[in-house]
Amino acid sequence: MKNYLLLIILFFVIYNAKCFSQEKTFQYYYNIDLNTVSEDQLEVTLTVNTPPESAIFQFPAIVPGTYKVYDFGRFVSELTAYNSKEELLEVEKLNDNQYKINDISDLDKIHYYVDDTWDTPMPNKVFEPAGTNIENDDVFVINNHGFFGYFDGMENFPFHIEVKKPSHLYGGSALTRSKGDSITDHFDVVNYHRLVDNPIIYTEADTVTLNVGTTKVFVSIYSPNKKLNADLVGQKLIDVLEAQKVFLKNQLPTDHYSFLIYLTDKPGISGAMGALEHWNCSFYFLPEESPAVILPVIQEIAAHEFFHIITPLSIHSEEIAHFDYMEPKMSKHLWLYEGVTEYFAGLALVQANLIDEETYLDALRGKIITAKSTYMDDLAFTELSKKCLEEYGNQYGNVYQKGALIGLALDLILIENSDGKYNLRDLMLELSQTYGSSRPFKDDQLFHAIDSITGVPEVKEFLEKYVDSPNPFPYTATLQKVGVTYLPEEVKTFATFGNIGISVNDDDEIFVEDIIDMDDFGKQIGYQVGDVLLKMNNTPITIENIGDLMNNYINHPEKFPKLKLQVRRDGKTIQLKSKTLILEEKEYDVFYKDENPTKEQQLLYRQWLQKII
Ligand SMILES: [Zn+2]
Repeated sequence: MKNYLLLIILFFVIYNAKCFSQEKTFQYYYNIDLNTVSEDQLEVTLTVNTPPESAIFQFPAIVPGTYKVYDFGRFVSELTAYNSKEELLEVEKLNDNQYKINDISDLDKIHYYVDDTWDTPMPNKVFEPAGTNIENDDVFVINNHGFFGYFDGMENFPFHIEVKKPSHLYGGSALTRSKGDSITDHFDVVNYHRLVDNPIIYTEADTVTLNVGTTKVFVSIYSPNKKLNADLVGQKLIDVLEAQKVFLKNQLPTDHYSFLIYLTDKPGISGAMGALEHWNCSFYFLPEESPAVILPVIQEIAAHEFFHIITPLSIHSEEIAHFDYMEPKMSKHLWLYEGVTEYFAGLALVQANLIDEETYLDALRGKIITAKSTYMDDLAFTELSKKCLEEYGNQYGNVYQKGALIGLALDLILIENSDGKYNLRDLMLELSQTYGSSRPFKDDQLFHAIDSITGVPEVKEFLEKYVDSPNPFPYTATLQKVGVTYLPEEVKTFATFGNIGISVNDDDEIFVEDIIDMDDFGKQIGYQVGDVLLKMNNTPITIENIGDLMNNYINHPEKFPKLKLQVRRDGKTIQLKSKTLILEEKEYDVFYKDENPTKEQQLLYRQWLQKII
């Protein structure tokens, strides 16, 4: 009896153990071979260790950070499915991105070809940093969502990617190889999100690894004509990261970060250049210009991409946290994800003197002008964000313009309400602690959360009035706080000197050379060709001072009610005189630092840029 019982127990233990071992965790095993490019396509094989729970196999319609639907399934062809006996299973294509596989419980393998997006004749071109590129034996841009699909609802299962490659190509990525040799790389990621978040660029190795504090920084660069190299770019990126480290109170929020840079000597088909951010890396598609031209651009874009680590990566809404690759829902807060990021990028660089103040202020002026001339000022920014995939797609670019200026306005409100002790960066760091990468906020509650953290009514008022409502943005009032004047238009008065041509004779005297285009004022005062100009309003005229005298007269007509000129004509000295003719001209987007800022303006300017106005 006892033995029998023991036998039964043993049987159960063995049976259960067997049963347990049969319940394998589903895993995706992908194979791709970069040696076998045919017709600009790569062959992809997916093997599953156990049948998936869903019969729908799909590729993303959209990926995070792009804010545009691309339908990556469009680049997939000849998709076939097999059982373990290598027999074909029936596959039905549902739409551009989805396939239904019959007898899914028998599935062993899926096989298909992928064409790259970078040279496709299809419309709706993919922004290159989010796309794929196959250049046989030379360079491969593997944005994983372009090559690898997943089963509906099964994005949270692990992926194993095996890449066969020519031995002279190196796979640059933020991913660590789990194993491999000179002709094979293996990568393991915990889910589809991590896979999408980690592009790989295969190219002849031009890489460098550097350290910023405790953060390991990896740079991989493809420069077809070798105009730039990883060492050169790496140094410039270190400067940026050092500046950002200081900006973030001496701590970079990651232990490793990769810059994957593709420089091109021909324009891309999307018509855009730029980069796409990821948690531990960013991918760049930029023109291969001389270092003097392109390095500052790389610095600027890298500063932007890296700061995405704060938002949306560490501060984001549920729409982003539970990213839907097939039917994305947009958050209302692009002013935060892209706008504040763009604002911080410029601010950190100017504070660290990597760009000078004039360049920075000029960039702000440029943003105002572009925002006003290219985009709708009477569209609530929250509305733009929410509908950026649909009717407001053409307004998306404003996130880098007005979005950044929203960041500026909030920063100044926070600084002035705290006597310089608290700024937008502090708010962002606090928000990232409150939320963080794994705790999204509810889209509708962000303004409330900001209000409870800051306790500054003006912040809430600003967000409601200028971000959540279609009120024209208060550019002038915002910049006035720091002693910078911005006027959409200004009527300027000026005088005319007569619009005559002057020249210098052999005795270094100034004389009237031509009066072909002489205006009414010139006619009134009565210039004649050959008149030698001796004195202007009693000041002797010389080659040295003629420019200043004329400029002063033209630009400050209020100082000179009359113009009196002593001239020599035909050997005689005579007087020409006339009442000054004051003309008016409209100037647009006038932008300058005030000559006499108030004490408050000076203080705020210093607290803002850490510079003296
Ligand atoms: Zn961005």
